[in-house]
Amino acid sequence: MQIRARQQQILQHLWREGGLSRWELHKKTGLTPNGVGQIVNDLIERQIICEGAPQASKAGRPRIPLEIDPHNRHIVGLSLRRGQVSVCKVNLKGQLIGRLEVKKIESSEHAIPTACQLLKSIIDPNTLFVSANVTGHIDPEKQTILFSSALQGRGGISLAPISEAANHLPILFDNDMHALAARWVLTHQAELSEDLLLVSVNDGAIGSAMLIEGKPNRGCVLSANELGHTRFFTETEQCYCGHKGCLERIVSTNFLHQHNPDNPATLLEQAAVFGNNNPSLELAIKHLTAAIANAVNFVRPHRLVLVSELTRYPTFTDTLLRQVRGLLLMNIVDRVKIDLWDQPAARNAETAGWLGLTRLYCNDWGGIITEPQKPIEV
Ligand SMILES: [Zn+2]
Repeated sequence: MQIRARQQQILQHLWREGGLSRWELHKKTGLTPNGVGQIVNDLIERQIICEGAPQASKAGRPRIPLEIDPHNRHIVGLSLRRGQVSVCKVNLKGQLIGRLEVKKIESSEHAIPTACQLLKSIIDPNTLFVSANVTGHIDPEKQTILFSSALQGRGGISLAPISEAANHLPILFDNDMHALAARWVLTHQAELSEDLLLVSVNDGAIGSAMLIEGKPNRGCVLSANELGHTRFFTETEQCYCGHKGCLERIVSTNFLHQHNPDNPATLLEQAAVFGNNNPSLELAIKHLTAAIANAVNFVRPHRLVLVSELTRYPTFTDTLLRQVRGLLLMNIVDRVKIDLWDQPAARNAETAGWLGLTRLYCNDWGGIITEPQKPIEV
């Protein structure tokens, strides 16, 4: 699923600015008017872009604006996470088409067969390709999941059945945190050359993605940045990674109950009414603060994005950010921008669909592509 650099250049401008004519694209990209014309015709033929209504222009000939085509082709998003598999279609502007289909799975052994079944039922002739996000680590060479909360620590699971279920279509696989970072970058029209640290905090599930000059850092394995498995010398239940003391076990309802059995409220419920007299939640915040602040000091990103439902509770969020800032190095705290993002669909198939959009609008984003049979070009 190679998209040529020049096609991507045109698509990037149309994504970010929309409504540009062939002449304006020529001026912005430096490509020849002829070259722009050919690329545009090809993208129109593939139903990736379309022409808008002609507008009067001073030059005499009407100006025809070009747009990303939201009506014809779509990307199928697939998400595998702990206890559930979801699929959906998103159009080339990232909007959900129809509904998100979610299937709960009782055992991790059902994850791959369920994904295959859902894919077969959703793919149709207008599907451009499939974009899948998985928690944990993926081996890009052997195309296996090495380790994932979706599979409760089972490893060496082949992605081949999913590729086959996609019936000739290429599939992009990447970590769910990279998918979330893609969604943030594309929805916030972010500066693509920035270094960005994105931290997602949910009850018992913490993930992170680090973008260097706008691209996920490569590392030695295809994965996100494992902030959730940052370990502390604190007693917790055993994590699915096999260890105790992982940050994502600390920032969890179970941890709060273990430290204060008298309060049956969940993490979210306790954060909603957070005041000064909740030592177990304060302890969890302290560890979360240390992990985030150490990561920021280490990476020195231009921007920290905190993605969490918890950000809707001002007292909790203010406490967390005040403590994080208190631990940052002086010159870093002055420069790093902090964004809060309450994105309820953070880890499902819709975000996997957004990951797929990076193939059209971002250079060299990463992930792996599996193509079971004849390769097609997008
Ligand atoms: Zn762990």
